[in-house]
Amino acid sequence: MRLVLLGPPGAGKGTQAVRLADRFGIPQISTGDILREHVQENTMLGIRARTFMDRGEYVPDQLVVEMVTERLGEPDAEKGFILDGFPRTVRQAESLEGALTAAARPLSAVLMFAIDDEMAIRRLSGRWTCPVCKRTYNMEFKPPVQEGICDFDGSELERRADDDELTVRRRIEVYREQTAPLERFYRERGLLREVDAQAPEDEVTERTIALLDELEDA
Ligand SMILES: [Zn+2]
Repeated sequence: MRLVLLGPPGAGKGTQAVRLADRFGIPQISTGDILREHVQENTMLGIRARTFMDRGEYVPDQLVVEMVTERLGEPDAEKGFILDGFPRTVRQAESLEGALTAAARPLSAVLMFAIDDEMAIRRLSGRWTCPVCKRTYNMEFKPPVQEGICDFDGSELERRADDDELTVRRRIEVYREQTAPLERFYRERGLLREVDAQAPEDEVTERTIALLDELEDA
């Protein structure tokens, strides 16, 4: 099962990624983590990446794709993988496609967690996080038992600075602009599968697993 996950902020993509990784016994791969590891361990790729980072520039797509490809070649990814947060652009998608084709391991599907903007805004702008255990709550959808207090450890919940409504709207806009071409790219290849992410988390997970099981049997 080789998957790419797409979805706007607020669609619950991160949660679903963790659950799918668990269900299918495949790693969830984050480019941010891979990049940090390479830089910390001073690998060849890490050293090259650092020259861009030190100048305050983005690490070029090609270099990121090289890191991802290398990571996908590790034993734990033999059965498959979940890419979350990558690719972000059509250029990255093209590079990834080239690398996967060369390795004879094409993507199985691209899951698009769909949610309308107003719902995403309601979810995100009501979000509170525990600074200690990092559990998240939502005043509307998943409130703590006692207002403003973590159920688990009693810490005072905090609100992220970028969760106010205007910032949330902007983040969603940026996502839409960036991802629309990517959606088109994968739709054209017959890989895009849309999942309705407006339902409660557990229901979304069930539907996604059903969809993937079907795909595996086909
Ligand atoms: Zn807590």
